[in-house]
Parts: sequence; C-alpha cells; structure tokens
Amino acid sequence: MSISGKVAVVTGSAQGIGLAIAKRLAREGADIALVDVKEDKLKQAAREIEAMGRRVAIYVTDVSKPENIRNAINHAEEQLGGFDIMINNAGIAQVDPIENITPEAVDKIFDVNVKGVLWGIQAAAIKFKQRKQSGKIINACSIAGHNGFAMLGAYCASKFAVRGLTQTAAKEYAADGITVNAYCPGVVGTDMWVEIDTRFSELTGAKKGETFAAFVDSIALGRSQTAEDVAALVSYLSGPDSDYITGQSIINDGGMIYR
Ligand code: NAD
Repeated sequence: MSISGKVAVVTGSAQGIGLAIAKRLAREGADIALVDVKEDKLKQAAREIEAMGRRVAIYVTDVSKPENIRNAINHAEEQLGGFDIMINNAGIAQVDPIENITPEAVDKIFDVNVKGVLWGIQAAAIKFKQRKQSGKIINACSIAGHNGFAMLGAYCASKFAVRGLTQTAAKEYAADGITVNAYCPGVVGTDMWVEIDTRFSELTGAKKGETFAAFVDSIALGRSQTAEDVAALVSYLSGPDSDYITGQSIINDGGMIYR
C-alpha cells in the first residue's frame, strides 16, 4: 500500500478523530507514534493498533510547548526508525459569546490549537530537513477555519490561524519536498461535540442534543460525520496521490459550507 512502512506521528490520538486517523494509517501499513496528554487512553489505543500488526510508540505530552513536540518526534524516530508524516490533530473547543471571552481562555485555546500546530509544523519540517527527505505535514483545521460561527469566536479564530499557518508553511517548505495541508471537518460526533452541545445548553437553554441536531440538520448529506470520514481524507493527504497538493485546507463536511 502507498504509505506502507512509513512512520506517522499523530497528536491528540488518544481518542476521537486522532485515534481514527492513527488506526486508518496503521491499516494502510504505517507505524504509528501516538501523542496525547491522556496516558491511559493512549495505552489502550496502542494496544488496539499493535493488534493490527503495526509497531507503535506512545509519548505523553502537551503539544503547546515546542520542546514537547520536538521530543515526541525524536522519540518516534528512535522507537520506529523513521519519520515521514506529521498529523497536528490535537485541539480543544470553547463556546462563549464574544462578550464573555477572557484573556485566560484565549491563551488556553491558542496555546493548543494554534501554537500546538505551529510547533508541530516547525519541529516536523526541521526533522525532515535534517533527515534529508520529503515529508507530509497535515493540520487539524475545521469548517470553523472558513466560516465564523456564533458563540465559537475563539475557536474560529484559532482555526482561521491554522489555515494561515498551513498556507505559509506550504510556501516555505515546498522547495524541501515537504507538503503542508489541513483537513476541515464539519460536525463529528466525538467527545468534543458532547462538550460543545453541553455548553450551548448552558448558554441558550437548548435541551441536551438539540444544538448537535440543529447543526446536523444543515448537512446536505443528511447525517453527522464520523471520525472515519475524516481519517479517509487524512489518509489521502498522507499518501502519494496527494503529492501535487499543498497549502490547502480541505473541507470534508458532508455539505455544510462551500468554497
Ligand atoms: P476530542 O476532544 O475527542 O479529542 C482531542 C484529543 O486531543 C484528546 O485526546 C485530547 O486529550 C487531546 N489534546 C487536547 N489538548 C492537548 C494538548 N495540549 N496536548 C496533547 N493532546 C491534547 O476532539 P476531536 O473531535 O477528536 O478533535 C480532533 C481535532 O479535530 C481538533 O483539532 C478539533 O478542533 C478538530 N475538529 C473537530 C471537529 C468535530 O466536530 N469534532 C470538527 C472540526 C475540527
């Protein structure tokens, strides 16, 4: 298979979209370095991927610090003997009207969603160049990186920033044979959306599940997105069929926003 024998580092891979990406790339023959703050879930994820016959390294760390990501990549290289694909997936959500957003909250979401991606791009590109090889860098963006959504101001700002970083890095690293792209899911039924739905209920009085259902109602294909739907796009962006694509933040949302 196209990515067979490659080594992929996936951040935020203890659960949700990151775990689905890790499993999909493993199914296609890649060895996987799992990175997250949640140690127990990471160990469980590692067991599941090892059972698929792939080699796995785990590294428990917070992606918001540059040295942490550098160490995670070094660990992957040492344990798995290479480094080819960087998936900067870790992210958090916040729901608040603009009037309620605090400096601490903005710092927190930018530390993970923006700086985590920036340090991930930086560390991956430096490592690919040291290794004198090409590479794929793939970042978690969102439909919220293309459209503003009420109550999601800080989150949208963080994802718009990911789109800017993705374009910039694509231009800076093209000559090194490194492509940089992003995936932009719509409404995926992970723990993140449970959190978003709960917070919307607190703010608007909506019943549990109502906000999620209202978002899903606006999807042309008529269902919420699975983490595997996202992983399918990331698989394409990880392999040679996407070699002529760089700097793009590709929407796969079942038909919610159109560019
Ligand atoms: P999730 O909350 O289920 O999983 C996120 C994972 O990231 C968790 O395992 C968490 O521990 C980890 N993480 C958070 N902060 C971290 C940090 N500082 N360092 C290391 N790991 C950290 O969320 P998800 O739905 O799987 O989202 C994954 C990515 O996809 C995020 O970047 C998110 O913004 C993006 N996204 C999600 C949706 C959706 O509908 N769920 C839509 C668009 C984009």
